Amino acid sequence: MSQKQNSLRLVEVDTSQGALMVPYEIRRSRRARYIRLSIGRHNHALLSVPWRCAFVEALEFLRSQGDWLMRNLSEHPTRTSLKDYLETHPRLYAMGKALRLSQGFTRAKPFYVYSTDNDEVELRIRAEGDVEENLIALVRTFAQEVIEKRTMELANQVGARIKRVSVRNQATRWGSCSSSGTISLNWRLVLLRANLQDHVIYHELAHVQQMNHSSKFWNLLRAYDPQTDAHNEQLNPAGAKLMPLGRL
Ligand SMILES: [Zn+2]
Repeated sequence: MSQKQNSLRLVEVDTSQGALMVPYEIRRSRRARYIRLSIGRHNHALLSVPWRCAFVEALEFLRSQGDWLMRNLSEHPTRTSLKDYLETHPRLYAMGKALRLSQGFTRAKPFYVYSTDNDEVELRIRAEGDVEENLIALVRTFAQEVIEKRTMELANQVGARIKRVSVRNQATRWGSCSSSGTISLNWRLVLLRANLQDHVIYHELAHVQQMNHSSKFWNLLRAYDPQTDAHNEQLNPAGAKLMPLGRL
């Protein structure tokens, strides 16, 4: 991480798809007449503001641009370390919810604190060794628990019989389903917005009955997830952003 990225401040902005943590920088300009927003070279929001523009006014403007920021920041992915990503987006998703993430270190065995009736998760990673490696290992342990739990819950809800859920480190796929009824899911699903995460799980559950992508399959999936068409479209851009994360 460069010096610049460390010095960027963070602000939480609302978007139509939930809260987004945005790194930003404010530059005052004697020539600027209006507030101008662009994407800086560290994939951050760069505000050029008139010399006398108040800091709160600039921030208020930034907060009003949530959807624009979501579209444009995600189109310029420069961060591929999980650590950097979670610093600007301190959220994990589990059991249909967004969880506020906090992190710390431990000298003992790494652990996380999470209960399903809470909207927070705390990770305590090993203090020795490579931070990125330790963080990936702990997020994967968390993913193993919550993805399996959520898949079982949704399978019960739709009445799908599954044998086993396996949480893996696939390179490009969110999930797959074998003819024997084993569902394999990518651990990065805990980084994926809750409604999209559920959509991926429903997709594999629909394959338990329909091992193909026929119209019968899509109709079944639409019955499970009425937002299927919109969610399916959002998966590729989300994948482009999230699949490179957490690779050593
Ligand atoms: Zn499929």
